[in-house]
Amino acid sequence: MNQKLPKPSKLIKPYCVKHGKDFLLKDVNPADTQGLDLKDEAEDVLEKDIQRLSDLQQKLYAQDRWALLVILQAMDAGGKDSVVKHVMSGVNPQGCQVFSFKQPSQEDLNHDFLWRASKLLPQRGQIGIFNRSYYEDVLIVRVHPELLQKAHVPPSLVGKEIWKERFKAINSFESYLDRNGVLVRKFFLYISKEEQRKRFLSRLDEPDKNWKFSENDVKERERWDDYMEAYEDMIRHTATPRNPWFVIPGDHKWFTRMVVASVIVDTLDGLHLTFPRVDAAKRKELNRARELLTRESR
Ligand code: ATP
Ligand code: MG
Repeated sequence: MNQKLPKPSKLIKPYCVKHGKDFLLKDVNPADTQGLDLKDEAEDVLEKDIQRLSDLQQKLYAQDRWALLVILQAMDAGGKDSVVKHVMSGVNPQGCQVFSFKQPSQEDLNHDFLWRASKLLPQRGQIGIFNRSYYEDVLIVRVHPELLQKAHVPPSLVGKEIWKERFKAINSFESYLDRNGVLVRKFFLYISKEEQRKRFLSRLDEPDKNWKFSENDVKERERWDDYMEAYEDMIRHTATPRNPWFVIPGDHKWFTRMVVASVIVDTLDGLHLTFPRVDAAKRKELNRARELLTRESR
């Protein structure tokens, strides 16, 4: 099929939520591909984006001013690992760190809910990827409020406003990061319940994928509607113009990866990164070094 790919801005726009207030999950179709059937072409586009990302990351690293925090949230089998593997494949490991947020440790639980994330933030010049994040504290913890007790939160602070209070805390945290040069880009890879069923079945059927399956995933799946409500409310309260949510259709992995890569490239492009130029004193130093090295060969 000979279809043309839309410009990156057009590709991204439908999924970018900057004003959460009006967001409804039902307005996004997890199987959406913008009418494109470009599986093969998508690989080429992704390849180009990966190359571009690699260039941009070198400049980000050399400039040592900005940091990028990429947050990936999804239901189980939503494709987070595949995004990390493919989209970040061209990035120099020196300038990128991936952290997976599993169940919190005893030490994590003995602190406020942003504590473990704040220790893992990317430093200037780096891209940090959170595979799950502090958003679990308004998702799984909301679906299973008994987890609040495990986290030793004083009962007098567990009122019906607790989720709104957590959203406010997250918004303050992220705008603090933004004002300190850490760009936060949040992705919800949105798969349908049917697609999750298919992916679980393939984890059961294909021996090489068996290790990915956990019985607990099926239990969480029973709470699908509660999770979707929690995701929707979370996005409604934490999508802001400076720290938007990207709700990316997840049923077609090729499309998901292509859009996520576009968003990351577009974000870094927006920084107009350049390699630092040396000043006069440094130039003199370089000239002296050149002279010494040239003399050596005579
Ligand atoms: P995979 O896609 O390979 O299954 P995963 O991200 O689901 O990767 P798991 O080890 O299967 O990794 O699951 C991690 C679990 O930890 C998830 O169920 C997640 O909801 C849970 N978790 C993460 N953060 C918290 C938290 N703050 N409180 C309670 N549970 C959490
Ligand atoms: Mg899992």
